[in-house]
Amino acid sequence: MTPALEKFWPETFRYAKRFSPFYRDFFRGIKGVPLLEQLPTVDKTALSERNLDFLCVPRQRIAEIVTTSGTTGKPLLWMLTESDVKRLASNEKISFECAGLTARDTVLVAVALDRCFIAGLAYWQGLRELGCAVVRVGASSSMLVLEMIERIQPTAIVAVPSFLRVIADKASESKFDLKHCSIKRAVCIGEPIRAGTFKLNPSGRLIEQAWGAKVYSTYGVTELANSLCECSAGQGGHLHDAMLHLEILDDAGQPLPDGEVGEIVATTFGVEAMPLIRYRTGDCAAIFHARCKCGRTTPRLGPILGRKLQKLKFKGTSLFPSTLQAVLEETKGVDSFAVVARAEDELSDAIEILFHGKASASALREAIQARTKITPLIRHASRATIEALQMPPQARKRRTFVDLR
Ligand SMILES: [Zn+2]
Repeated sequence: MTPALEKFWPETFRYAKRFSPFYRDFFRGIKGVPLLEQLPTVDKTALSERNLDFLCVPRQRIAEIVTTSGTTGKPLLWMLTESDVKRLASNEKISFECAGLTARDTVLVAVALDRCFIAGLAYWQGLRELGCAVVRVGASSSMLVLEMIERIQPTAIVAVPSFLRVIADKASESKFDLKHCSIKRAVCIGEPIRAGTFKLNPSGRLIEQAWGAKVYSTYGVTELANSLCECSAGQGGHLHDAMLHLEILDDAGQPLPDGEVGEIVATTFGVEAMPLIRYRTGDCAAIFHARCKCGRTTPRLGPILGRKLQKLKFKGTSLFPSTLQAVLEETKGVDSFAVVARAEDELSDAIEILFHGKASASALREAIQARTKITPLIRHASRATIEALQMPPQARKRRTFVDLR
């Protein structure tokens, strides 16, 4: 048991069992304070079925109401008391300190502060707590971001990687010298900038190159009101263990050793409105406990490799679509692609890769084999075929992984 767990777990358990209607039922009959690892886990289905039964305080104590991102199913309502908002701010402050920001920084917050998202609120509060000057430039106009860079000379930006790439395109179109601008750090949220090996992926490399800035990955989950940010060593997001406890579990619910990828299961500490105990996030990553190059001794969470539901089975091995996507993005002569998964049998999914571009299918097969040890079907396809797979009717977001299982 870690010192933080020893310190915060008993109170977390007693509080949730006493005040949350969900946990009162869930833990009925349990006497005393059990070991955390002995309790059952809770997934998103339970959260959506009994959303407001997780609430531990009367409604008049609520200060902010946000929604979850809703990548799976309907977005959940998530509520925070004044003290939860302060906890959020203090968590973000520590996160930004990890990324090397100080009170001397001027920071562009290029994410939405509205639309019920928690992220913009969290970054804004955390940067203010740190003493930075904050520019809430938002994520709707790349021109506005460039204009503010020119007028204010900010030193850092917080944004989604794809928006940072859009701004870079706009800059090169309008002959704006982004590479030598005042921004020295880009804190990246929501999309991966590193592969499982911690190496920057094409998106991360492109951003560092175009912006002349160092990228820092940060991972957050609305329901946990928490985020983990990398330090300049870029070896995973540092956990603030007084606010959050993480476990990495395999498919059977057993804990995995350091470096092995499994589902992130989280327990929040110090949350008043909607605390969570052994919550299965559905995201997969590995955890590392060795001391970091920066000197911090807190655990680090590696890059998010994908959703647990997306995990592919191929003749006894398993892998995430993100591994295949990374190879395809890095192979020269691949202009566009789609990774298609179909159900085959118990042990294997049928995986087919369609690509458009000058690359040869056999070179691509070799590159994939070298990285993943699997040999999926690979075939050349027209731009239109791939476009139709990436953007089916009613799709809101382009996808390169098509799950037909
Ligand atoms: Zn570090």
